[in-house]
Amino acid sequence: MHKVLEVSAADFQRIVLESPLPAGVLFYSNDCPICASVLPLFERMAQIYAGKILFARINRDFNRELSKQYYVKASSTILFFSQGKEFCRRLSGYIRTPELRCTLEFMAAGKCECPKRDKIECDVLILGSGPAGLTAAIYTARAKLYTVVVDDSFVGGQVATTWHVANYPGTNGVIRGIDLVGNMKRQALDFGAQIDDMQEITGIWLDGPLKTLSTTTAEYAARSVIIATGAHPRKLNIEGEETFTGRGVHYCATCDAALYQDAHVMVVGGGDSAVEEAVFLTRYAKKVTVVHRRDTFRASRAAQADLFKNASIEVLFNREVIAIHGDNFVNSVTLQDVLTKQTQQMPIDGIFIYIGMQPMSKLFEGQLALDENGYIVTDDKLRTSREGVFAAGDVRFKEVRQITTAVGDGAVAGKMAGRYLSEIESMQLKGEGKE
Ligand code: NAP
Repeated sequence: MHKVLEVSAADFQRIVLESPLPAGVLFYSNDCPICASVLPLFERMAQIYAGKILFARINRDFNRELSKQYYVKASSTILFFSQGKEFCRRLSGYIRTPELRCTLEFMAAGKCECPKRDKIECDVLILGSGPAGLTAAIYTARAKLYTVVVDDSFVGGQVATTWHVANYPGTNGVIRGIDLVGNMKRQALDFGAQIDDMQEITGIWLDGPLKTLSTTTAEYAARSVIIATGAHPRKLNIEGEETFTGRGVHYCATCDAALYQDAHVMVVGGGDSAVEEAVFLTRYAKKVTVVHRRDTFRASRAAQADLFKNASIEVLFNREVIAIHGDNFVNSVTLQDVLTKQTQQMPIDGIFIYIGMQPMSKLFEGQLALDENGYIVTDDKLRTSREGVFAAGDVRFKEVRQITTAVGDGAVAGKMAGRYLSEIESMQLKGEGKE
C-alpha cells in the first residue's frame, strides 16, 4: 500500500486497530500550516515504508471524539499503533524528518532502506528556507548562480506558522504567513533555485574553499554558504512543561488555538508574539490570561492597543508561571508574584508560551564566531568569521528581528555571496589562489 489512507472514527477500528501491519496515524486539521507541511513528509514516508507500515490520516475537525479519546491536543500529531494498541512515542507539533524516520525504522523491525546519497555541487548553499533564506535564493538564483536551499523542516520557517502578517509592506496587512512564504518559495523556484526541505542534516564543514554539508540522502558541496536557519521558541524550563507539551502546553497558537473553543487559556510573555497571539486566541477561547514577569509589555503600541481593548483578555503583570500541572492534559498552573513571592494556583485548559526565541546555531558551534546567546556574529556585509560563509535573518546577532529585516538580510547576503564568488573567479583568472 503506497498511500496515506483517509480514515474516520467509524472505520478506525477496522483499518487501524485491526491492521496486520503496524500503523502511523497523522491527526491533522484544516487551516493548520504545520499539518499542510507534514502531510507531504508523511506521504513520502508512505512510499518508503510501503508494505511494512500502514499510513493513515484523521481529520481532527471531523473526528473530535476520537481525538479526545487518544488525547490528541496538538496539530499535527502522529500516533503509532501495533496490534490494536498505541505504541512508541507519539510525535507532535514541529515534526522533523529524523525523529519520524527513527520511529518508523523501529516499527519496521530495523530494516533500514535509506536511499543512496546524491552528490550535489552548487555555487551557493543556503541553509534555512524562511524569509531570509528564500530571499537570498531569489537574489542568487536570479544572478544565475546554482543555488540550493536545504532545510531540516518544512519551507517557511516561523512565518509559516503565523496566522496573519500585518506589517509586511505591500500586502494590505491581510496576508497569511503561509501565503507570504509560499509566494517567496515560488519566486525562488521560478528563478531556478533548488529547494530540498525535510532533510536530515548529519554534518557540515565550513572550512576551506569548498564547504560541504551531508544529509542522510545527499552530499552537498558549495563555494559559498548562507546560513539562515532562524530561531525556535524558547522554553520556560519549568516543572510540567515537557510532560504536557502537546497536551496543553503549546508554542504555536495558529496551529493549536482551534482546540480551545470556549476554553480558558494562558499566554506567557510580553513581546509582540505573546501580545498578538493572545488576541488571536480570543477567536476561540472564551478567556485568555496573559502572564508577564514585568509591569510593562515590550510589544509594539499597536499590538498592545488591540490587546487592551479586547474584553476576553485578562493581564497579570509581575507574575511568573513556576509549574504546570495536569492529569492527561494541563489543568492548572502555579503562579508566583515576582514582588511578594506569593504563589497561587490557577485552573486553565491550556498554556501558550511566547518568551522569545533561541537561534538555531548549534550546528555551527566551534566553526563560526557566536555571541554569548548563540547568535552568529556578522559584519555589515553579513560575512561571518569564515570566508565565503554569510549569515542572514534571526540566527545572526542584530537588534530588530522582523520579516522585513530577515528579507533585507537575505538580499544583502545573496548579493555579497555573489560578489565573493565573482572575486574568486577573477582571482583564478589572474592565476592568484584564494584560500
Ligand atoms: P521577545 O520580543 O524577545 O519577547 C520575549 C518576552 O518574553 C519578553 O516580554 C520577555 O520578558 C519574556 N520572557 C523572556 N524569558 C522569559 C522567562 N524565562 N520567563 C518569563 N518571561 C520571559 O520575543 P517575541 O515576542 O517572540 O519576538 C521575537 C522578535 O520577533 C522580536 O524582535 C519581535 O519584535 C519580533 N516579532 C514581531 C512581530 C511583528 O512585528 N508583528 C510579531 C512577532 C514577533 P521581558 O520583557 O521582561 O524581557
